[in-house]
Amino acid sequence: MGEFELIRQYFQPMADSARQGQLILGPGDDCAIQRVPPGRDLVFSVDTLVEGVHFPPNYPPEYLGWRSLAVAVSDLAAMGADPVCFTLALSLPRAEPEWLAGYSRGLARASAAFDIALAGGDTTRGPLTITLQVHGTVQEGLALQRSGARAGDLVCVTGPLGDAGAALDFLETAAPTDDQQAVLARYHYPEPRLQLGAALVGKASAAIDISDGLLSDLQHILDASGVGAELDADKIPLSPALVALKGNEALSYALSAGDDYQLCLTMADDQLSALDLHVRNQLITIGRIHSEAGLRVKNAENIGSRQGYDHFGRSV
Ligand code: ADP
Ligand code: MG
Repeated sequence: MGEFELIRQYFQPMADSARQGQLILGPGDDCAIQRVPPGRDLVFSVDTLVEGVHFPPNYPPEYLGWRSLAVAVSDLAAMGADPVCFTLALSLPRAEPEWLAGYSRGLARASAAFDIALAGGDTTRGPLTITLQVHGTVQEGLALQRSGARAGDLVCVTGPLGDAGAALDFLETAAPTDDQQAVLARYHYPEPRLQLGAALVGKASAAIDISDGLLSDLQHILDASGVGAELDADKIPLSPALVALKGNEALSYALSAGDDYQLCLTMADDQLSALDLHVRNQLITIGRIHSEAGLRVKNAENIGSRQGYDHFGRSV
């Protein structure tokens, strides 16, 4: 199968949903054309997934299709941007119809769910590697950045943490239990918090999506903002499935495991209380920003031994 036949058969359908006229020209020419409406900033990001490094060998292609776009779009959510279009650079060892059908099915589902159209790409032969560049727009000057956290701000997250990390133990499980299935779904089908991110534009002072783990991703906000933070371990949201599976190690997963793609954000008290109730209800306050550098976690004395913590529960 040639490159063009492959694109026509598997990927062209995702190009036909040009978002609100902003994608003026999709795949097929030398470049795609995106028109950025007046008063909006273009926000874009690229992610590469390598088999054996970022996903396991023989990972089911339909999950990979969803996951690869979801984790890329999550960066748009963290900036408060609305998705517009994406490019797909695929390096494949061989054109395997079954793999392509599965991958493009998962990708198409994600493309429809996040309302982001395929603008173009590149197809080459080589070790299985997927590079996605996502484009979105946000109100001019208002993209959420990592550098805006101020002493006194609250630290919030947008949902339970640690599930996707716990799922790694069960990827090969033949007949997963209900609890195992619940955390596996979080790993296979991450849901970028797009609506929530957009609702926080002009309100949150800083934001990041949690791809590597709460402590390490929050640390990026602290470094970029020149501040510190104290979290309360008792406030960290844990799913019932994670607690059932990991017992007193659940908190350790929530603090340090990645792949959940919830948002971590900072916000002044009065901004939080002014939010619409349906937005505020999705935020869980877990701590506060301080002017002294460092990240401390109180009430983490009984944390499981998955990783080391110093006296205050700081990740080491
Ligand atoms: P060029 O040589 O100009 O880079 P290509 O032969 O690489 O062009 O691609 C031809 C067209 O097909 C381009 O418009 C490109 O965006 C599109 N395309 C190539 N691979 C993919 C893909 N995997 N998904 C979507 N579009 C693709
Ligand atoms: Mg090319």
